[in-house]
Amino acid sequence: MPAKKQFKAESKRLLELMINSIYTHKEIFLRELISNASDAMDKLYFKSLSENIGLSRGEFEIFIAVDNNSESRTLTITDNGIGMTKDELEQNLGVIAKSGTLQFSKDNEDAIKSEEDMSVIGQFGVGFYSAFMVASKVEVKSRAYGEKEAYLWSSSGTDGYTIEPCEKESHGTEIKLFIKENVENEDGEENTGVVAGDGSDYNEFLLEYKIRSIIKKYSDYIRYPIKMECVKRERNEENPDEYTETKEVETLNSMIPIWKKNKSELKDEDYNEFYKSKFHDYTEPLARIHSKTEGTATYSALLFIPQKPPYDFYTKEYEKGLQLYSNGVMIMEKCGDLLPDYFSFAKGLVDSEDLSLNISREMLQHDRQLKIIARSIERSIKNELKKMLSNEREKYEEFWKTFGVQLKFGIYNTFGSNKESLQDLLIFHSSSEEKFTTLDEYVTRMKEEQKNIYYASGESIARINSLPQVEAVKDKGFEILYLTDNVDEFCLQMLVNYNEKQFMSVQSADLDLETEEEKEEIKKKNTDNKALFDVMKEALSEKVQDVRFSQKLKTHPVCISGAGALSVEMEKVLAAMPDTGGQKAKADKILEINAAHPICDKLQFLYDNDKELLKTYADILYSQALLIEGINLENPAEFVGKITDLITK
Ligand code: ADP
Repeated sequence: MPAKKQFKAESKRLLELMINSIYTHKEIFLRELISNASDAMDKLYFKSLSENIGLSRGEFEIFIAVDNNSESRTLTITDNGIGMTKDELEQNLGVIAKSGTLQFSKDNEDAIKSEEDMSVIGQFGVGFYSAFMVASKVEVKSRAYGEKEAYLWSSSGTDGYTIEPCEKESHGTEIKLFIKENVENEDGEENTGVVAGDGSDYNEFLLEYKIRSIIKKYSDYIRYPIKMECVKRERNEENPDEYTETKEVETLNSMIPIWKKNKSELKDEDYNEFYKSKFHDYTEPLARIHSKTEGTATYSALLFIPQKPPYDFYTKEYEKGLQLYSNGVMIMEKCGDLLPDYFSFAKGLVDSEDLSLNISREMLQHDRQLKIIARSIERSIKNELKKMLSNEREKYEEFWKTFGVQLKFGIYNTFGSNKESLQDLLIFHSSSEEKFTTLDEYVTRMKEEQKNIYYASGESIARINSLPQVEAVKDKGFEILYLTDNVDEFCLQMLVNYNEKQFMSVQSADLDLETEEEKEEIKKKNTDNKALFDVMKEALSEKVQDVRFSQKLKTHPVCISGAGALSVEMEKVLAAMPDTGGQKAKADKILEINAAHPICDKLQFLYDNDKELLKTYADILYSQALLIEGINLENPAEFVGKITDLITK
């Protein structure tokens, strides 16, 4: 007996979930195994082409065999693909290699046990382990291409697996599933279908018609034949009431890749099933693009925008890219050069006749043809999104909530060089509409005398609405864009303007809402009080650039405005980022005092009578202004101390 090895902890958890899954569509295990088999044949065919081994495409096939005997109950899926070495068996089937750091929370497990919903498991990309939804034991015999030895991997579930040498005539993989027994329901009847137990009819997976229909449904496009020995009934010529049954090997799939078919032949369902099986998603895509392009580059593309981000989308492990085919042969699993970073969520494939099969990753990067295709793909995704924004607003907003940040980062990371192409895809919440608005819609609503596109940054809309500066802008009847994502303001700064209208933060010291007269008046007042402000500035030393009166406030006594390119909000975002060492950038801050507020008289009084207390006031007012902006005080205890002194006086 070979020694039993334990699964890596995370794989074991996934396995447990699979074994206990009450998912109703257990039949997808077959699609997963066939998809693996097809990949393994792709790999070998590609190796053969690039190393001139001389295997022909026609040699590859998947064979399905059923042993319906009540003792054995096995379903075997055989391929003559690249196979696995002993190490690969261990690596690929003993751990979930690609899942990075799987986080199985208690919630997830409960969700799987309680709901007929695969979406939680689905997030992790199911693959091979789905076999355990229907099988009590799985045996994998594999022989890697070019190797003499074959190995048998075997497991009955969570208690581990064994690997031992075995005999296998040729390269490839044979997966034998020992199909689970049906459970009996309370009436003692065998469970067939949707009654009692977990509702699964395992017997079905041993029946020809069922296997046929599962393959038609999920794996029809697989470009290698999926063969099975099927029963053929023929009327007996001599006695028409009798039939003779013969067995014949049949190919169950049509083998035409879906992207080569005409759009008119295809239904939404076909695309959705293809998407789900190919890209391991359990939710249907939000949108798709199926195109055939001829001209400077000739290619077919089938692209999808997912509804939900893949589970690892926000991790370093996530790799963007499209599958790349050269005339129907997959040459690269993930070609990152085909997608700009801001569209990294897109899934899909490109098949082109213009690409050489023997192209290496490095050469591909410089391939002119590929660059043309990439540009054209970028355009199609953009156009699709624009179309969605104009025609299916709700759907677009759903997209935006999931992937909008990506687009905003796209503008920021490329220093606005994608401004023209991306700015019309941006949407923000705004004060005039209780919903999202595009920049174009904002500009159309702008008042005649309005010079700028106003925005305000903060954690939430409620928080922004409580900012002192917002009052005055709203009072003028000007609309404000609410920037609630960290990246928002950085993105708008890169855009600089839209349709010749300047973006202007309501939190900026440059915000000018006053009339010329008002400006003159405040300027005079500021000059007259220079000495007072000098004392306050001295008290605040490095903290502020300037202290002055302003007319932009209505009820609030003070506010902090940003004077430079880096706003107070941006400083906050940068401060919250993981420390990269060195000094964090600081915004130039100006303490603005409401010229119409009673606090002015008080300050004047203190200037005349108690300059020390005036300094304390300066500090308290500054701290208050920071707090209302949502900025943490460096020394809260000191602030509280000062307030306490004041109120106990
Ligand atoms: P995924 O297919 O998403 O990588 P799986 O759990 O389905 O995850 O498979 C893990 C790995 O096992 C595959 O990436 C592949 O390397 C290997 N594998 C699975 N089935 C086969 C097969 N039939 N032939 C060769 N390798 C296989």
